[in-house]
Formats: sequence, structure tokens, C-alpha cells
Amino acid sequence: MSQRIDVKDLNIYYGDFLAVEGVSMAIEPKSVTAFIGPSGCGKSTFLRSINRMHEVIPGAHVQGKVELEGVDLYGPGIDPVAVRRNIGMVFQRPNPFPTMSIRDNVLAGVKLNNKRISKSDAEELVESSLRGANLWNEVKDRLEKPGSGLSGGQQQRLCIARAIAVKPQVLLMDEPCSALDPISTLAIEDLIQQLKSEYTIVIVTHNMQQAARVSDRTAFFNIAGTGRPGKLIEMDETATIFSAPREKATEDYVSGRFG
Ligand code: ADP
Repeated sequence: MSQRIDVKDLNIYYGDFLAVEGVSMAIEPKSVTAFIGPSGCGKSTFLRSINRMHEVIPGAHVQGKVELEGVDLYGPGIDPVAVRRNIGMVFQRPNPFPTMSIRDNVLAGVKLNNKRISKSDAEELVESSLRGANLWNEVKDRLEKPGSGLSGGQQQRLCIARAIAVKPQVLLMDEPCSALDPISTLAIEDLIQQLKSEYTIVIVTHNMQQAARVSDRTAFFNIAGTGRPGKLIEMDETATIFSAPREKATEDYVSGRFG
């Protein structure tokens, strides 16, 4: 099944403030797309608009379309909760439920969605999700222990296990490694490479080496000044963005001349 996302002329607001203007892009299925650009250019805002998380902030809204397999996620009759189930999210700081066991953390999203699930199905789902997040071998003997007892990198993989347990098509990751040490970062990057065979992945990163390592396509966003809206400057194969971008602003950014 195709899991292609097409964003069409999207404007994203916080109240009256236009934070991101006029973004159109295609996000290819079963690949990794990276969003890069200086702080404040709207990468996170744009990411959160893809699964309708943006609008949970009072006054926050969008104009334009985000289509998944041709269906406008902002169209009439679309349930934002269903959108967020289908398009999961992993955040900057690993946020397992601290008092919940590792097992219950994996199942938290499934239970939140009011899915009734038999004990044996639950056990299977816990194992397959933890395996999918490359965490099973490290935690299989302590599934009853609290998630907060894991290292930061393990907690982030637990959050990824929780996200994939609800069987989404798309995974959005907002700087998923920014709170992690280099070894844990590499573990997450390896995991992203594996996950892309099953999921469409979008990752915001301030780390250009990371974008170059993990992504197939890269989108560069920029902002003309404080109070101005962020814009998509260009998007292309990652190798092209880093070696031969079309726009000078992109070249300046990827070569470290600003941002
Ligand atoms: P980036 O992820 O590229 O650093 P953000 O998406 O966080 O950029 O921010 C884009 C713009 O939106 C900034 O001007 C920021 O101040 C503004 N912004 C972000 N979150 C909020 C919010 N909750 N309320 C109002 N403005 C916000």
C-alpha cells in the first residue's frame, strides 16, 4: 500500500501569526525524509501539522491540504484522533510513562485507542514492537520494571516501540536524538534505517551529519527574519542537497556558513 504524503500550499498559524507559509511537498513512501534549517524556521510546527497535532494548541490552525494516499487529512469528516494513530510521533525527549512497566508502556497507545486485546495478543504485540524497536533483547527479562529505569537511548527506543505498537503507516520524529549520547544516537539511526522498509519516516534534525546519514530526501526550510514565516526553500535527494543544491541559502546552510 502506498503511504505517500502530498502537502499542498500549506499555511500554518498560531492565532494570527503565520509561522510557516506556502509549503508544498511530496513525502515518498517507505523512505526517510529529513527536515533541516535554522532554529525557528518552522520545522517542528510543520511536522506537527502533518498529523494534526498542531491544532491541539489553542488558536493554532492551518490552511491548505495534507493528503495521505490522496485523502485530505484536513477534509470534512476526518477524525484527527484516527489521523494521529495512523501517523505516529516520537518526541525530542523520550517520554515513557515513568511509573508504568515497560510492557504497559508498549501497550499504552493501543489501550488509549480503546482496543480490546487478549492477553496472548498483547504479549505478541509487546514482543514484536520491542523487537521492531531493537529493544527486545535488552528488556525481555524485565518487562515488569518501570520504563523510567531504562537509559535515555533505551527509553527513546521504548517510545518508538509504543509508537509502532498501534501499527501506524507514518512515523514523525522531532529531533529524536537531541537528548541522547552518540552511541544511543547511532542505535536510533540504525533503527530508522530498518524501520523505513515498513514505514514512511519524517525526521526533524538540527544535525546535518545525521540528515546526511539517515535520510533519502532532505527538505531545507529557512526564515527571512524574526516574525516572518518560515518557508520551504528546496527539497531534493539528500546527496544533492548536500553536494549541489540549487539555492544559495541551502548551500550556505549545509556548508555551515549560517544557522
Ligand atoms: P523550528 O522547529 O524550526 O525551530 P518551530 O516550529 O519551533 O521552529 O517555530 C516556528 C515559529 O513558530 C517560531 O516563530 C516560533 O516562535 C513559533 N511557535 C512555535 N511554537 C509556538 C506556540 N506554541 N505558540 C506560538 N508560536 C509558536
